Amino acid sequence: MTSTLLTGIGLLATQDPELGELSDAALLIEDGTIGWLGPRAQAPAADRAVELAGRCVLPGFVDSHAHLVFAGDRAAEFAARMTGQPYTAGGIRSTVQATRQASDQQLRTNLARLAAELLAAGVTTFECKSGYGLDVETEQRSVRLAGELTGEVSYLGAHVVPAGIDRTEYLELVCGPMLQACAPHAKWVDVFCEQGAFDEDESRAVLTAGLAAGLLPRLHANQLTAGGGVRLAVELDAASADHCTHLSRSDIEALAGSNTVATLLPLVEFSTRSPYPDARSLLDAGATVALATDCNPGSGFSTSMPLAIALAVREMRMSPAEAVFAATVGGAKALRRNDIGQLTVGRRADLTVLDAPSYLHLAYRPGVPLVHQVWRAGEPAWTSSALQ
Ligand SMILES: [Zn+2]
Repeated sequence: MTSTLLTGIGLLATQDPELGELSDAALLIEDGTIGWLGPRAQAPAADRAVELAGRCVLPGFVDSHAHLVFAGDRAAEFAARMTGQPYTAGGIRSTVQATRQASDQQLRTNLARLAAELLAAGVTTFECKSGYGLDVETEQRSVRLAGELTGEVSYLGAHVVPAGIDRTEYLELVCGPMLQACAPHAKWVDVFCEQGAFDEDESRAVLTAGLAAGLLPRLHANQLTAGGGVRLAVELDAASADHCTHLSRSDIEALAGSNTVATLLPLVEFSTRSPYPDARSLLDAGATVALATDCNPGSGFSTSMPLAIALAVREMRMSPAEAVFAATVGGAKALRRNDIGQLTVGRRADLTVLDAPSYLHLAYRPGVPLVHQVWRAGEPAWTSSALQ
């Protein structure tokens, strides 16, 4: 077993409410996990030491919502939207066509590039959905390829009803042969519960079938309209209800009284020029809030968790501390994980080192690449090239 001491940490923002924030700190990594943390002056000996010269250390960000298996892009659709055309769920179908035509290797290359972007943005764990295949073969390819890079794979056959197939027939496919083909490669079942995609009863059928196949439910809920998605998420004890842009008072109360995380995706509101979710009401009611990128080629093509944090602070009135908590602990809870998201003894040594004295700079310096180094399971996984 080798040990590494990270020392000279200007601010160690543990995200553990009991430990809080430590200044002039050190952290010991042993065998990929956190062995000790505390004041630098009390640090134990280690095989090697890394001096961080006053930088801030956070848990690696946990991105609990991303769509990374696809081909092509929709830059022209984005440009049209910025000159006045509204966003609708139907644009997904153009990505489906490109994805079906792509080879495994093309999909793998695109996925690896986006995963590298996430890592450079300080993300050490990400979730990845299928949903641009919408036939048995391409959905299975999608979950299989996603599984090469992450253990957090979601089967999203119920993204939209593709062109050229009857709605009832497609739902039978999603709950039957497509599910059976994808379930061995996935942990989660997801559904886009929205006008223009799937209604509450259809979504319940998909998630229930997924549960029966051994998958855990999560869903896209209340993004464009105040439908029944959040209600359904709480009813099924889904790990997360994602988007939560249009909520009723009873939706907020239901989330606050449940184990379902409200995952907010402000990069989508930014990229579709839409009103942001009411994070304040959720937090004040006691709901657990996560922040994720929702990186996808249509409604928001960004891998920048730091920008999501800046938007949460500037546009959604979350405090910088609440936003960082949501991007770490919130994301871990949205994936029902207790081995990541906080810097405490025994957790995985997934760390993001900022080239800044405090995490406040994530929102204070929007758009500036502040990630200095990323550690995953106790090993350096990425270092800013400007500083090598
Ligand atoms: Zn999504």
